[in-house]
Amino acid sequence: MIKDKYVAFCAEDHDYMTFKTFEEAKKWLDSQIEIATENGEGFNESTMYGEDFIAKITHRSHFNETDNKSNYHEHTDTCQNSCDEEIWEYDYPAVGNIEYLPVKEEENP
Ligand SMILES: [Zn+2]
Repeated sequence: MIKDKYVAFCAEDHDYMTFKTFEEAKKWLDSQIEIATENGEGFNESTMYGEDFIAKITHRSHFNETDNKSNYHEHTDTCQNSCDEEIWEYDYPAVGNIEYLPVKEEENP
């Protein structure tokens, strides 16, 4: 799956979108500015002084699994009452942490 490579942020309405190309990002930001200036009052200060921006996405979040349910015992009807095997204590099927991995160059030329 090819993911978007650029993010554009419009400070006026605190809105953002992601895009495959810089040109698409610029087009969206231009249209946001056009909407914002329709009242004839001119550009917003945020637009004039650099708070709108287009950035290239360099890192993305990634779930790094450290353990999961399949590594643990699950009680069944055949378990003894005294069964003290270690069971999975969480409501979700895996635990881990979030890392931010660099976007691979072939995904982000
Ligand atoms: Zn058991």
